[in-house]
Amino acid sequence: MRTRPGICRRKARYASEEAALEVAARAPFPLRPYRCALCRQYHLTSRTKGMRLPRFEIERRRKLKEPAP
Ligand SMILES: [Zn+2]
Repeated sequence: MRTRPGICRRKARYASEEAALEVAARAPFPLRPYRCALCRQYHLTSRTKGMRLPRFEIERRRKLKEPAP
């Protein structure tokens, strides 16, 4: 993904994909970490269309489909 310099400066940066995923897992909406070509760190994006879903998001959706116990 191409990141514009303004977006890079504005966004939170994460040193690793794991750190970014941890934050994404706690967010109330789907977020996807991606490697930024400018700062070489990770940002989160809510543009998840066409992206592979992270494991926690697959789990979350699976749980939503299951009937409550
Ligand atoms: Zn960046």
